[in-house]
Amino acid sequence: MSALITETRAGRYGIRGISLGGVYTSIHVPELGVLLDAGMPIRQFAALDHIFLSHGHGDHAGAISALLGIRGLLHDKKPPHIYLPEQILEKLQEALAAMSHLQRYELGFVPHPMKPGDEAQLRNDLHVRAFKTHHPVPSLGYLFFDRVSKLRDEFRGLPGHEIGKRKKEGADLFHTEERLELAYATDTLIRVLDTAPEIRKARVLILECTFLDERKSLEASRAGCHIHLDEIIERVDDFENEQLVLMHFSQIYKPREVRSILKDRVPRRLHDRIVVFAPERGPWPG
Ligand SMILES: [Zn+2]
Ligand SMILES: [Zn+2]
Repeated sequence: MSALITETRAGRYGIRGISLGGVYTSIHVPELGVLLDAGMPIRQFAALDHIFLSHGHGDHAGAISALLGIRGLLHDKKPPHIYLPEQILEKLQEALAAMSHLQRYELGFVPHPMKPGDEAQLRNDLHVRAFKTHHPVPSLGYLFFDRVSKLRDEFRGLPGHEIGKRKKEGADLFHTEERLELAYATDTLIRVLDTAPEIRKARVLILECTFLDERKSLEASRAGCHIHLDEIIERVDDFENEQLVLMHFSQIYKPREVRSILKDRVPRRLHDRIVVFAPERGPWPG
């Protein structure tokens, strides 16, 4: 394990990368093949084809030109796909055009401007839907899901030949169901749980929790449009997720303090499902 990268697991998903509130966030989920934000140009992440930007703040998008530059060294790679809030596409293109000009080196990408509710297909078994988050700049969260075809209830239990017969008669045997796998919501007010309630049902929810105790008041946390641990504790029974990955902690807390505060403050029934995305020991990376 590289000291720069924190690696952990949330159920079936690997969660690897770096996240420190206001400093840098960039998280790779290998099983989905996606990179969530680009606040740090990590060499290994330059090979990833699908990059999701939550918003344009430097700690989430500031390293995109460096990451694309590293990708340029990988000669077998085409430009990656970047999914981002539609309002920031033009500015990102301008910024990358300026950087391309500065370097006399093309920093290409395939843009996917998104707004809340927009969907894209990444693989046969993987889709993504953008949802609204609440921050002072245009911002989005992303919900990754699979769409599976299910036999309708009324046909369940019928023998195979009966189902075959219904099929020949042209009956509508199947309906599609979404399996909500992983949601990513960073830099937002806790209100995202109400405006995008489906994220509470995702198997894994990666959620920011920038502030953890009285060193930052609830009011000050809200004023910056961030989540305070008090607000997660208040809604402890709202999380139906198998795992809740907390990240984007403020550097006013040391990594080991983060763990001890969460252990002391979060009721056991939720704490058992929390994955702390911070180094196990030592200081924050970098
Ligand atoms: Zn941030
Ligand atoms: Zn931000």
